[in-house]
Amino acid sequence: MAGEPVVLVVEDEPAQREVLAYNIRAEGFDVLTASAGDEALVAVRETPPDVIVLDWMLPHVSGIEVCRQLKMGADTSKIPIIMLSARSEDTDKVRGLETGADDYITKPYSVAELLARLRTQLRRVRPATVGERLEYEDIRVDLAEHRVYRGEAELSLGPTEFRLLTAFMERPGRVWSREQLLDRVWGRDIYVDSRTVDVHVGRLRKALNAGIAGDPIRTVRGAGYALG
Ligand code: CA
Repeated sequence: MAGEPVVLVVEDEPAQREVLAYNIRAEGFDVLTASAGDEALVAVRETPPDVIVLDWMLPHVSGIEVCRQLKMGADTSKIPIIMLSARSEDTDKVRGLETGADDYITKPYSVAELLARLRTQLRRVRPATVGERLEYEDIRVDLAEHRVYRGEAELSLGPTEFRLLTAFMERPGRVWSREQLLDRVWGRDIYVDSRTVDVHVGRLRKALNAGIAGDPIRTVRGAGYALG
C-alpha cells in the first residue's frame, strides 16, 4: 500500500459515499472519506490527499466553501478538486461561481467517467501512479515494465530504491524531508527509522552513479533530498 495516491471523498449521502470509496479503492488508491464540509477541511489538514472528490451540497460548510478555502490556502491550493453537483443544482451556476475547482461532474455520473477524470487529475500531481514512463535528464523509468535506465545502461534497483526514484522523478527539484519520503515510499502506517531513508538513498545513488559522472541526487542539509 506504500505510496498509493490518497483520494479524499466528500459526500454526505452514505450510499453514494460508499460506492465511490469502494470503486476508487478498487483502482488501487487509498481512500479517505468525509461526510460534511467542516469534516473535509479537518481531514485535509490531517492527511493532505492527492486529489479531492467534493460534493457541492454538503451540511454545515458547503462544497463550494470548502473548495474556496482550500484554493486560498498556501498548502492546499494545488490539490486538484473534482466537484460533484446534481443536475438540478445548475452546473452553469456552479461553474460561474469560480470556486477554482479543477473539474466538474454532474450527477448522475458513471463511476467509469469519474475514475477517468480522477486519473487525469492524478496524472498532473502523481504521474508515476497513472503514467507509463518518467524521464529526467538521462534517467528514464519505464513504469509498466519496471525498468530503469541511465543513458543507455539499464540499472538494477531494489523495490525500495525503485519507489524512491519514482517519487523523486515525479517532482524534480522538490526537496523531500525524510518524513515525507517515509510516507511516500514506505507508507504512513509503518514505523521506519528515518535513518533508513539515508541508507536507501545511498543505495539508489550508488546504482545511479555506477560508472557515470554527475550525481543527480542532491543532499539538502537540514532538509532532506532532491533530484536535481
Ligand atoms: Ca450532497
